[in-house]
Amino acid sequence: METLARYDVIVIGGGVVGSLTARELTRLGARVLVLEAKSDVASGTTAANSGIVHAGFDAEPGTNKAKLNVRGSALMPALTKELSVRYAQIGALVTASGNEGLAGLEVLLERGKKNGVAGLSIVRGEKLRALEPNLSTELDCALLAETSGIVCPYGLAIAAMGNAMDNGAELLRNTPVTGIEKIDGGYLVNGTYFAPAIVDAAGLASHHVAALAGVKAQNQHPRRGEYLLLDRNCGGVVTRTIFTLPTKAGKGILVSPTADGNLLLGPTAEDLPEGANCAVTAAGQDKIIAAAKKMVPSVPLGGRITSFAGLRAAGESGDFEIDLTDGFLVLTGIESPGLSAAPAIAELIGEMLGEKGLLPAKPMANFNPVRTVVRPKEMTDAERDALIKRDPAYGRIVCRCEEISEGEIRDALHQNPPALTMDGIKRRTRATMGRCQGGFCSPSLVALISRERGIDETDVTKGDGASFIAHERTKGGN
Ligand SMILES: Cc1cc2nc3c(=O)[nH]c(=O)nc-3n(C[C@H](O)[C@H](O)[C@H](O)COP(=O)(O)OP(=O)(O)OC[C@H]3O[C@@H](n4cnc5c(N)ncnc54)[C@H](O)[C@@H]3O)c2cc1C
Repeated sequence: METLARYDVIVIGGGVVGSLTARELTRLGARVLVLEAKSDVASGTTAANSGIVHAGFDAEPGTNKAKLNVRGSALMPALTKELSVRYAQIGALVTASGNEGLAGLEVLLERGKKNGVAGLSIVRGEKLRALEPNLSTELDCALLAETSGIVCPYGLAIAAMGNAMDNGAELLRNTPVTGIEKIDGGYLVNGTYFAPAIVDAAGLASHHVAALAGVKAQNQHPRRGEYLLLDRNCGGVVTRTIFTLPTKAGKGILVSPTADGNLLLGPTAEDLPEGANCAVTAAGQDKIIAAAKKMVPSVPLGGRITSFAGLRAAGESGDFEIDLTDGFLVLTGIESPGLSAAPAIAELIGEMLGEKGLLPAKPMANFNPVRTVVRPKEMTDAERDALIKRDPAYGRIVCRCEEISEGEIRDALHQNPPALTMDGIKRRTRATMGRCQGGFCSPSLVALISRERGIDETDVTKGDGASFIAHERTKGGN
């Protein structure tokens, strides 16, 4: 036992839930280890979703989804400010038409009031048109949710994990949990890491991870959601998130600006067997286009720059299940609104572990909740000039589409949790996320990763495993 690496809590999974939980438990004074299977945090569901901070009118009153969504949404403005994460409270409109549509909106309005959501009202006719002039004239009423917002989902997870690490948490990537043994006083993970408490935040795989420890959890299956992303110059076609009335399968297809200024269309909702992947399909893309055009006929489809898909962890109960037994806490069914609820889920986990005496008696005395990121593009001209004079690397633009400098890429390779791959750089800085999708800047990024990480250019990968960018050296080695 003496050679074991000992912690107060081991968090399994570095998605938005695991990352915010690691930060909260560190704040509460715990020694935290995060084990993540992939080469980076935010590689699972957190990497591909709508990025909406839902107001909280959709879930049935009294459910975990309702309570944690409303609380999470309230925590989001201050949290994202502390962590320098892009977030904006732009509001949302659930659109409908006719008497039947209006009745559906009234149900949502009542539900929202019961859930304690502020800023809800029904708008009709000319008032609706004044809010969003590009909406279809077929849509004559909507539920306005003023507290709905947009956030960069992977940005939030990366920043939360980085801040947890700045305050002492440890993160091990490329470390899938494959064995959990209950031993005297706690759990032994992968035969090496010991803690009295485990938080199983492994997303779609969390029920399987729980089974490793002999803990029962509800079954989950993937529900795929496909998207279409439009260039930043299309972001202004609507100024709020536009939904239609939700169905049992989800909140339906939306048209929304993203926190980074693009326009997002989607998602579909397709229940799939275990092992399904994030492929996009022609049928799915057609469905998105048809639904988006119904809401916003002038949607500028010529601005399409990419498509992608994410997998929701759909559980049997339809609610978020958060169960703590014998020091093992497992989360299942953390589908939408899991991103919105994540700050509140982290807070709840802290309370649950604390009540069982699994956390230190006192919070960390000198916890620093702030994480800063240098973003020259968001500075005034004078600030940027001064920055470039101090450090010329911020003046050398590498990604032309998104105007990302060498200094920002260098920072991403060193700031907690350091980027290890091209995808890691992309999610931290937005380099390669613009119109050319990395066509121009990829070679420069490979060179920078090689220089800053001290690895050969042929060892640089796009993402996990052997996804090497270069196969071998040619033309005399360059
Ligand atoms: C299409 C779609 C749209 C959505 N839209 C919204 C939205 O607009 N608003 C909203 O609030 N929510 C939305 N959601 C839901 C939200 O994205 C999720 O609730 C949230 O990202 C879940 O985060 P997580 O940390 O639980 O899971 P994940 O992000 O999946 O993280 C789990 C992590 O565990 C790791 N892992 C798995 N197995 C192991 C193992 N054995 N050992 C170690 N690590 C392991 C994985 O690699 C992964 O990094 C949407 C989801 C989808 C798919």
